[in-house]
Amino acid sequence: MDNNITHGLWADTAPAPPILSSFKGEKKTDIVIVGGGYTGLSAALHLAEKGVDTTLLEAEQIGFGGAGRNVGLVNAGLWLMPDDVVKILGQEYGERVIKELGNSPDLVFDLIKKHEIECEATRKGTLHCAHSLGGYKALRQRESQWQKLGAPVRLLSKEEAKPKIGSDAFYGALLDLRAGTVQPLAYAHGLAHAANNAGADLFIKSPVTKIEKKEKEWKITTMDGKITAKAVIQACQGYPSHGFKESIKSLIPFNFFQFATSPLPDEIRRTILPQGHGAWDTNMILSSYRLDAEGRLVVGSVGSIDRFGYGLHKNWAKRTINRVFPQIDNVKIQYGWFGRIAMTTNHVPRFHVFEEDNISVTSYNGRGIGPGTLFGKLMAQYFLNDSDAFNSNIPLPVLKPKNIITRRLRGLAYEAGARAYHFIQKRF
Ligand SMILES: Cc1cc2nc3c(=O)[nH]c(=O)nc-3n(C[C@H](O)[C@H](O)[C@H](O)COP(=O)(O)OP(=O)(O)OC[C@H]3O[C@@H](n4cnc5c(N)ncnc54)[C@H](O)[C@@H]3O)c2cc1C
Repeated sequence: MDNNITHGLWADTAPAPPILSSFKGEKKTDIVIVGGGYTGLSAALHLAEKGVDTTLLEAEQIGFGGAGRNVGLVNAGLWLMPDDVVKILGQEYGERVIKELGNSPDLVFDLIKKHEIECEATRKGTLHCAHSLGGYKALRQRESQWQKLGAPVRLLSKEEAKPKIGSDAFYGALLDLRAGTVQPLAYAHGLAHAANNAGADLFIKSPVTKIEKKEKEWKITTMDGKITAKAVIQACQGYPSHGFKESIKSLIPFNFFQFATSPLPDEIRRTILPQGHGAWDTNMILSSYRLDAEGRLVVGSVGSIDRFGYGLHKNWAKRTINRVFPQIDNVKIQYGWFGRIAMTTNHVPRFHVFEEDNISVTSYNGRGIGPGTLFGKLMAQYFLNDSDAFNSNIPLPVLKPKNIITRRLRGLAYEAGARAYHFIQKRF
């Protein structure tokens, strides 16, 4: 990747993707997939494995979008608590989506094993850390709702959580044994190898500029070529460009940055998240914490580190590391990068059927490793099983794309709130 503040540490430490070229000329294929993140790659892999002629077009590089920038927490379920998901989606879809996404880390770690993907995969669970007593109470609710569904989650007291986090800054933590961590860009590269080996045709630097339906076939135009296909899967998520630019209007931009220290000395690194958990907290302006394979501490939070945000958020990251993990003295930041999360107003992903042979599941609200892999597979099955959209295997209602008129305002509010909070927090 060419820009250090977009993919940072992950670009430097991911094994290489397959060698791919850009698409030039003309071809016919069964299914075109637009976007080379988890959703597109998983769809390509599952279609190609069944012998479907599949062509994936990526505007930039594999993992250019959220897939190459995220924290790498392979979470189970949505951001919302299970009862809230049922309230929003109703019993049928709510229960289905909770079950499928609750199991989605199984799919991720099974694919990693099956395709021998080198991506620092660790499945020791994650810790959702209570930053306040109110946060602890909310975690108790989360625990009770998930336990009713039989999920292996347990609320740890402050004393139990302290040695697992390596910090006494928290009031306790919810341990979720379904979850784990990966090097996110390495996972995307690995999926690309797997899809490529299964026979999918993958192209990079091939932005789709137009799609139109003519005589029951899709005509897909790229910068340098034209493809005819029977069906299309749109998998552009939070980074739509060229012919899909307009779909940015249906999501609320929510930036999230990360800073990574230089590798910590062994005796210090053994004290921080020593059992290999990934962690984040209950704060509204949340923070995330994890180690990479070389013992760097990666701390993240809400905000962008473009021109004006870099210094402010970097100073916050240093102060936060000093506060949460005071055992690290002389914090040296080696990398900083950020990305855009695709949010919806109700925090639930959306299933769009543009025509019955042109579909998209989008807006994972900051939880896309499991969901992207799962929805990619389910969209592949949608075509493999010749599903009827309104009675399909995809556990979401079919919705019409909808522009969010207040999206810019909400995005600015997140950004301004995060900057103000990071400027003030524990400064004085
Ligand atoms: C900073 C950050 C932290 C996050 N942390 C986590 C986390 O810890 N755990 C988790 O589960 N999720 C996390 N997420 C969310 C997760 O990264 C995303 O949900 C996930 O990457 C979505 O995968 P995707 O394949 O659908 O989309 P993306 O990975 O965004 O890929 C979309 C691709 O489509 C391509 N594209 C767009 N337009 C075109 C076009 N016209 N032609 C061709 N290609 C096009 C883009 O270039 C891009 O590569 C985080 C996201 C960010 C940004």
